[in-house]
Amino acid sequence: MSHESSRREFLGTLAAFSLFPLEQEKPELILHNGHVVTMNPAEPVAEAVAIARGRFFAIGKNADVLNLASPGVRKMDLGGKTVLPGFIDAHSHPAAAGLSHLRMVDCDLRSVSAIQVALRERAAKTPAGEWVLGFKYDDTKTEDGRPLSISDLDAAVQDHPVHIEHRGGHTVYANSLAFRKAGIDEQTPDPPGGKIDHDPATGNLSGRVAESAQAFFEKVIPSNFTRDDHREGVKLISKMLAKTGITSATEAQGTPTDLRAYQDARDSGDLLYRAYCFINYRYIDSMIEAGVHTGLGDEWVRVGAMKLVCDGSISERTARLSVPYEGRPNDYGILVMTEEELYTYGRKAHLAGWQIGTHANGDVGIDTTLRVYERLQRENPRHDPRFRLEHCTVINDGLIARIKALGAIPTPFSTYVYYHGEKMRYYGAERLDHMFALRSFLDAGIRATQASDYPPGEFIPMMALQSEVTRTDTKGNVWGPKQKISVEEAIRVGTINGAYASYEENLKGSIEAGKLADLVVLGRDPLKVDPSTLVTIPVERTMAAGRWTFES
Ligand SMILES: [Zn+2]
Repeated sequence: MSHESSRREFLGTLAAFSLFPLEQEKPELILHNGHVVTMNPAEPVAEAVAIARGRFFAIGKNADVLNLASPGVRKMDLGGKTVLPGFIDAHSHPAAAGLSHLRMVDCDLRSVSAIQVALRERAAKTPAGEWVLGFKYDDTKTEDGRPLSISDLDAAVQDHPVHIEHRGGHTVYANSLAFRKAGIDEQTPDPPGGKIDHDPATGNLSGRVAESAQAFFEKVIPSNFTRDDHREGVKLISKMLAKTGITSATEAQGTPTDLRAYQDARDSGDLLYRAYCFINYRYIDSMIEAGVHTGLGDEWVRVGAMKLVCDGSISERTARLSVPYEGRPNDYGILVMTEEELYTYGRKAHLAGWQIGTHANGDVGIDTTLRVYERLQRENPRHDPRFRLEHCTVINDGLIARIKALGAIPTPFSTYVYYHGEKMRYYGAERLDHMFALRSFLDAGIRATQASDYPPGEFIPMMALQSEVTRTDTKGNVWGPKQKISVEEAIRVGTINGAYASYEENLKGSIEAGKLADLVVLGRDPLKVDPSTLVTIPVERTMAAGRWTFES
C-alpha cells in the first residue's frame, strides 16, 4: 500500500473528514506517543492526535497519525503521558472571582487573628473612609472554632468600613462602620428572604448578615471597577484555570458586564477558557428585548442559561431542607425566591428560548424548582429544554425520578466532600448518602456534571476526581460512600457531560475528529494511580483550540 493510499484510507475512516476539504487536509500539529483517553466510546484509547485549525483532525495509532505529517508540521512526543479531553467546569464564578483576586483581601486564612492582620495591612494602604473588602472567608476553617464577630472586625479596622464575603457567597461579615454606612442598626427588620444576625444574649448586631440582607451593603459599596478591570479579572482567572486543566467554564451568575468582559478578554487574546455565560434573571428583560437567547455567541463566548436562585447554600448551611440541620431542630434553611417568582421569570425565559439554571441545594429547593420546570413544560412543551438544577445537592428517589423524566441536568459540587469535609457533619451521615449524588444520577441515566462553584469550592479537576471517587475528606473521613463513582465515570462527568450541559456535546468534551482541540496532558495516569493520590497528579500542559494555554 502506498503512503498516499494508506493515508487516504485512514482519513476515510474519520467521521470529520467532510469538515476538511481535501486541499486542507494538512494537520499543523501532531501529538504522538501518548496514552490518549478520548471519552469517545467508538475509540476509547489512542496513541496520537493530529490538529488542524484548532480542531482534532485525526486520532489513532502513532503510525497512522504520523503518516499524515506533511513538511512543516510540528510534532511533539508525549513520552507516554496520559491525555484527557480538557475539563469543563459546569458551574463556577470565574469572572467575578478574577475581579475579587484583583482587588480584595483573600481571607482563606486559618485564624481570626490572621484575618485581622491581613485586613489591617490592606487598611494601611487604603485612604481612610474607603472600603476594605475581603472574600473567601470560611468560618469552619479557622482554628478559633467560632465565626468572625463585629468586635473582631472593629478591633482590626475602625476608620474604614470592612465587608467580608463568606466563601459560600450567601453571607457577609462587616464592622460597625460598615453597618452604619449600610443604614443597619439593632432595630432594622430582616428583609424578605434575608437575615440580620443578632447576639442572642445582648441583641446587638453579630456582624453577620445572610442572603437578601446582603443588598443593604451592595447599595453602598461603590462598584468602581473599570471596563479594563473586568477584562483583567478574566485574564487573571484564565491563567489560574488553565493551570489545572480547565478549558471551559460556566459563569453561573453572569451579568451583561461579565459578557462584555469575556468578549474584551477574547479580543485582547487573554481568554484561555471557553465561557458559557449565564445571565442573572434581573437582566433577562433587556436581553430578551435585544433578541438574545441561550446559544448566541461562538465556541469561546456563548450566552448560557438564565439564572434563578431558589434556596441557600450548603457550605453556609442555608440550603432549604425538609429535615432540619443536625443539632439545630428549628433550622430548615432559607427559600430565596418564591415558587411564583421562579415561575414568572421562568415562563418568560422559557418562551423566549432560554435554558434555565436554578440554584437549588436542599431537597425542598429542588422539589420547588422541579415543580416550576414541570409546569413550564406542561403548559408550553419545548423540545430539549435541558433545564438545569444548579448544585442539586440533597436528593431522594422521588426527585431522581422527576429529574430523569424531565431530562434535567444536575451540577453537583465536585470537590466539597474532599475540601469541605468539616461541614459535612451538619448534614449527618444518613443525609450524606443522598448528597452530591453522582452514583444515583449516573445509575438513573442522568447526565450530571463536574462543578466547582469557585470561589465557594476549589476548582482543581484532579481534586474533583478524588472527591467523587473516594468520598473522603482531607482528614480521612468518608462521607456518603454509597455515592462513589469510578475514575472513568468521574472523567466523563468532567468532560462530555459538561459539554452536554451547554448544548455543546457535538463540539467538545471528547477527543474526536472534528471536535475542538481542547485537552490536558497529565504527569500520571488517573486510571492507574491509587485514587487517594489523584489530587497530586500534576497537570503538565493544557490546550484549547490547538494552542497551549498552560505549560509547566
Ligand atoms: Zn454558584
